[in-house]
Amino acid sequence: MTEEQLIRQALDAARLAGPRDVPIGAVVFGPDGTELARAANAREELGDPTAHAEILAMRAAATRLGDGWRLEGCTLAVTVEPCTMCAGAIVMARVGLLVFGAWEPKTGAVGSLWDVVRDRRLTYRPQVRGGVLAAECAAPLEEFFARQR
Ligand SMILES: [Zn+2]
Repeated sequence: MTEEQLIRQALDAARLAGPRDVPIGAVVFGPDGTELARAANAREELGDPTAHAEILAMRAAATRLGDGWRLEGCTLAVTVEPCTMCAGAIVMARVGLLVFGAWEPKTGAVGSLWDVVRDRRLTYRPQVRGGVLAAECAAPLEEFFARQR
């Protein structure tokens, strides 16, 4: 799949978000390209501050992959630039490739505010492609926040 196709899958996953949750979606693909898990942000739905789309998708993917906690060689596609928590988890899970859509200048930890995943002090650093279909990925967020006002 191309990077655009990966992000389109993440956009589909964002539609799984409940009505009160910010519509962010994430999908994890295995080393052979098959989809392992997808999730939407569910912080409000689950009442869980860590229930970001990336965390939920990585947890489910690790269970399915059956290789312990490691997601080595896997690709994580997410509609928005990950925050510090998710960026840290992506490094800890040893995700091979991170592809994301919209930049998040307020909380982004993959190039905007910080660059957690490419810190040179880390022994493991995933490959990164950011800003893929950025406008399409930002649109559901803009609609969501416009509805909140
Ligand atoms: Zn996050």
